[in-house]
Amino acid sequence: MNRATFDAAAIEAFRATLRGSLLRPGDVGYDDARTIYNAMIDRRPALIARCAGVSDVIQSVNFARDSGLLLSVRGGGHNVSGNAVCDGGMMIDLSPMKSIRVDPERRTARSEPGVLWREFDHETQAFGLATTGGVVSTTGVAGLTLGGGIGWLMGCHGLACDNLRSADIVTAEGQLVTASGSQNADLFWGLRGGGGNFGIATSFEFQLHPVGQVLGGLIIHPLDRAVDLIRFYDQFTRNTPDEFGSMALFVTSPEGERVVAIAVCYNGAIEDGEAVLEPLRGWGAPLADTIAPITYSEVQSMFDPGFPAGHRNYWKSSFLAELDDTAVELVVDHVRRCPSPSSAIAIEQFGGAVSRIGTDETAFNHRDARYNLLILGIWPGKADRDENVQWVRGLWDAMAPYSSGGVYVNYLGAVADEGPERVAAAYGPEKYARLAALKNKYDPANLFRLNQNIWPKAA
Ligand SMILES: Cc1cc2nc3c(=O)[nH]c(=O)nc-3n(C[C@H](O)[C@H](O)[C@H](O)COP(=O)(O)OP(=O)(O)OC[C@H]3O[C@@H](n4cnc5c(N)ncnc54)[C@H](O)[C@@H]3O)c2cc1C
Repeated sequence: MNRATFDAAAIEAFRATLRGSLLRPGDVGYDDARTIYNAMIDRRPALIARCAGVSDVIQSVNFARDSGLLLSVRGGGHNVSGNAVCDGGMMIDLSPMKSIRVDPERRTARSEPGVLWREFDHETQAFGLATTGGVVSTTGVAGLTLGGGIGWLMGCHGLACDNLRSADIVTAEGQLVTASGSQNADLFWGLRGGGGNFGIATSFEFQLHPVGQVLGGLIIHPLDRAVDLIRFYDQFTRNTPDEFGSMALFVTSPEGERVVAIAVCYNGAIEDGEAVLEPLRGWGAPLADTIAPITYSEVQSMFDPGFPAGHRNYWKSSFLAELDDTAVELVVDHVRRCPSPSSAIAIEQFGGAVSRIGTDETAFNHRDARYNLLILGIWPGKADRDENVQWVRGLWDAMAPYSSGGVYVNYLGAVADEGPERVAAAYGPEKYARLAALKNKYDPANLFRLNQNIWPKAA
């Protein structure tokens, strides 16, 4: 929507309530602020409120609601759906809110919502601590945690949302509430996987864990060994300890060769990791093996060069019910026909602590999954859209017989492309109904609807 029901005087009055800045089209910094990770998204909000703190968030929510403005919320700006930015309405930009406070004795950290994982890891690693976070260091803490949050440490410590101890939320009514196990526990349940549906999180309190050097890197094999390698890998991961995190990757090497790789992070004693990894590293004749003791921050940024901001991104994903030779053959066949060397396919290992947390404990679903399939269409130029989108969709359609039907909400694209039934598939019918009831309670008018939307009237 975006008939502006406010006038210049109202905007100036709103501006005066902010400690941060208010940007309009043509202002210095406007284009930078509306630019997000996925270059397919090119939207122009009427107002960008660059919030400096909680007060600015409250003022912005109140102004957007009372003016009938479409509202979008930006944390780290990495969601490929582009929901962080809107056309014509107001974007609440949380990226200036960067404070992080680590309490080394309690092993907790408080993070504001503009923090990226590299910033969070930088502060917590100063004390030899960390929590599960995204595997590309430029991703935002806020959106990733609210949707679930998968990362290298999840076998030991669960998802990012499983390590959330509490969060402060500005509701649709402009009230600040705290959600935790003992305060507004229903909201706390919904925040851990339900995305940005219930309000704007202005502070996240995380549980941290000791994390020192890890054994991390890639073992790379020729693509024509992929079926055998993944068959071996599938058996191997049935018996690996929680400390072993991994994913299989289909990528193009810098030399232009299509390869299959197993990326690993062993979060435990290095000599124990060497023993655990021995069969994997001894398998076949790798083209390269980069696995070595490295810092946690190094493993957290090892994929960064493959994910530059400003490329076009079209992703499809689903949890896998099975992973057999025929499925891998399909993947290999598509990899050979991939139009962009920047694209990739990831088969992410689940299990460990993620699967031991009760399914009812959080809104995040699919805790029993063994693997998640993520097809990442990534290309630099505007002109190549159709062939790349078709390639991603072609593989995703072909893999449908191997899908569990479930999907990770943070990997979903725009609703116009995915369809609302995919949001339902992220939660399953029971959790969706519970989330819809929560939405009725906290945001019955659906002010927060630019997200993977839980529709309030479904309750
Ligand atoms: C390169 C790349 C790597 C990724 N790697 C991983 C990974 O390893 N693990 C993983 O789990 N996911 C990963 N993701 C997916 C990621 O979890 C989502 O894109 C997530 O939404 C990013 O959060 P953000 O804050 O950066 O995004 P944004 O685009 O800023 O936000 C996404 C949505 O979250 C909501 N939101 C954001 N901040 C708030 C807030 N403070 N309060 C309320 N709602 C809010 C809004 O609805 C917003 O539209 C990756 C994505 C990319 C592009």
